[in-house]
Amino acid sequence: MLEEVTGSCVVCGIEGPTGRSGDGLQQDCRRCGPYVISGTARAMIGSRLDDDPLAWARASHAIRRRTSRDEWLRIGSQVGDALTTARLPTPDVQLRNLLNRIADEAGEDALTPVAIDLSTGTEASPDVGA
Ligand SMILES: [Zn+2]
Repeated sequence: MLEEVTGSCVVCGIEGPTGRSGDGLQQDCRRCGPYVISGTARAMIGSRLDDDPLAWARASHAIRRRTSRDEWLRIGSQVGDALTTARLPTPDVQLRNLLNRIADEAGEDALTPVAIDLSTGTEASPDVGA
């Protein structure tokens, strides 16, 4: 589906596979998940990310919760605002999300080792729009 091109995620700034779909930009971000964003939404989100230092984290989390490998989230101009103003999960919900992710990775083998890549969660705020 994606061209063999690497680009920065519009939301979080991580490098990853990028492609085009008409006016839309396809991004397969390892932090946010796969999504398609329109040109208008890209411009709108860019200004929101510049205005609020936590907007990228809100948008990244909101995308991750709404997208899937089978059905990529399509972000249009009306969705962009909702993504940057969505609430971040509370610490207890974050813990539950981590446990659910580990359980999903482990499947039915509760003793299988599960690798969790924390490298994407410790970076400073992305350099988007700079
Ligand atoms: Zn991202």
